[in-house]
Amino acid sequence: MVEKGSHSSNLRSKAEAKVGTSPLGGPELTMDKAKELMHELEVHQVELEMQNQELREAQHRLEDIRDQYTDLFDFAPIGYIILNKKGKVEKINLTACTLMGIDRTQIIKRPLSAFMSANEARVLFLKLQEAFQKGVLKPFELEINRNDSGSFPALVHGTISKNIMGQLQCRLSMQNITEVKQARILQRQHKALQNEKEKIQQYLDLAPIVFLLIDKDQKIQMINQKGCNLFGYERVELLGQNWFDFLICNENGKEDDSNQIEFERKIKLLSPALECKVRCKNGEELIMSWRNTTLLGKNGDQIGVLSAGEDITVRTKLEEDNQTYTANLELKIEERTKELIKALEAEKRINDLKSNFITIASHELRTPITIVMSSIILIERYNNLGQYEKSEKHIARIKSSVDHFVNILDDFLSLHQLDKGIIQINKEVFDLEPFVEGIVTDMKGLLKKGQHIIYTHTGSKKLNLDPKILRNIILNLLSNALKYSSDQVKIKSFLKKDNLKISIEDQGLGIPDEDQENLFTSFYRAKNVEHIQGTGLGLSIVQRYLELFGGNIKYKSVLGEGSIFTIEIPIY
Ligand code: ADP
Repeated sequence: MVEKGSHSSNLRSKAEAKVGTSPLGGPELTMDKAKELMHELEVHQVELEMQNQELREAQHRLEDIRDQYTDLFDFAPIGYIILNKKGKVEKINLTACTLMGIDRTQIIKRPLSAFMSANEARVLFLKLQEAFQKGVLKPFELEINRNDSGSFPALVHGTISKNIMGQLQCRLSMQNITEVKQARILQRQHKALQNEKEKIQQYLDLAPIVFLLIDKDQKIQMINQKGCNLFGYERVELLGQNWFDFLICNENGKEDDSNQIEFERKIKLLSPALECKVRCKNGEELIMSWRNTTLLGKNGDQIGVLSAGEDITVRTKLEEDNQTYTANLELKIEERTKELIKALEAEKRINDLKSNFITIASHELRTPITIVMSSIILIERYNNLGQYEKSEKHIARIKSSVDHFVNILDDFLSLHQLDKGIIQINKEVFDLEPFVEGIVTDMKGLLKKGQHIIYTHTGSKKLNLDPKILRNIILNLLSNALKYSSDQVKIKSFLKKDNLKISIEDQGLGIPDEDQENLFTSFYRAKNVEHIQGTGLGLSIVQRYLELFGGNIKYKSVLGEGSIFTIEIPIY
């Protein structure tokens, strides 16, 4: 500001000099003239005071503007510094002081270069030198030290101008670009990462298996070309999609329970290995085997999953086919083994039959032949002596022995036919009652003294069955009952529309408990009948005939009390 006192005394002396040469001081000044002058002076004085007032007001306004400018200068969002030609700080605003962490008094009149490294100071020196020469300063960056600690990068703009004294000065604006620089670094890093990602993507695209990156929200962040090709999608169609919702086939059908689904999804993503079905764009379902790697963030929390997947549809199918094939093979082997065992058993039975036949033939067949031979010799003798009546008894014995012989041969023949499966069933309709009575009559020759047969029938009369086979069955059971007992034998028949039941009961020897389970085995005979003739074939033949009819045989026997054999045959 201009000093008020010196300025006004200066003006005073100039005014007095002017007044001294004025005609007002001359002797020719009249009273009227003087009054007129006085009036003029008063008007001027008032006019001057008014001008003074205006000036004072203008000065106040200027001071206000100056204060506003100072505030603007100090509180501007960027730092301002005015440097003289020597690079010393003439003025600095508060923002710049704050940026540099320094008080204004510590920097005024000091070189700005004192607040930076030697290198940076050199840059500033050269820039200023050029600017003062050319009158232009291009923007540049400086690393400026802070008074307290560290430094900050500043972007510097500047202009060259003259101060009121006409001296060159440089006005600088200074902006902290730490964040800009960090953003630039981040941008560069981001770009580098992007490049890395693209490189990885290129490598992964070459991989023959599916690679997939799923974020913590289960969204697909990355998928390689193999995955796109396999599932039939463009990459853009898959990126950002929920992995489970978009590609995974129904998850155990728990559509209603969203919590359960969410829980299971998390488990799946956490499990290192997983197999699941993926639905392709064309609707095809692929079985995929996945290996999962959990990706962890800095805090250790899960940020995603990297999955490597292999299409195992064909392999699984082959394995399944293999399993089915193996299972079938095992089944076939089992069946074949059973057949072989059966065949072996059959062969064994045939061998047993052969050896048993030899035993029976040597014993059972020899007996009737011996009887026949001895009877023939005796008949010859009686004939030579002319005692013909005595021969008749022996002729009867020969007949009976031949019958017995034929019966045994018949049994062998039946067994052979049953074994070969060459027995034919010839059904015909006949009356049951006279049929059984006929058998009873035929058997009378076997009755022991005091022995008789009682036959009763209940139910229907006619039936449709093979009479020859039925006769054979009844004959076998009835002859056993007569053979192994001395008292009466009861035969009962019950005929219903669809069922025939016949029971033959005696009060004879009975069968020992330990022999009962083997009664139906060919050639098996109980211990208590060794002294009675028999081949052990009858019951086994009966049982096999009944099997041909779809019927069965049951018995009850108590040793020493008797036995009851019951057959049942379904009638069609
Ligand atoms: P067998 O020619 O010896 O009579 P079967 O096969 O007819 O042969 O009978 C087998 C065995 O069953 C007989 O040897 C006998 O021990 C026993 N058995 C069969 N029926 C009777 C019965 N009614 N009473 C006692 N034992 C019987």
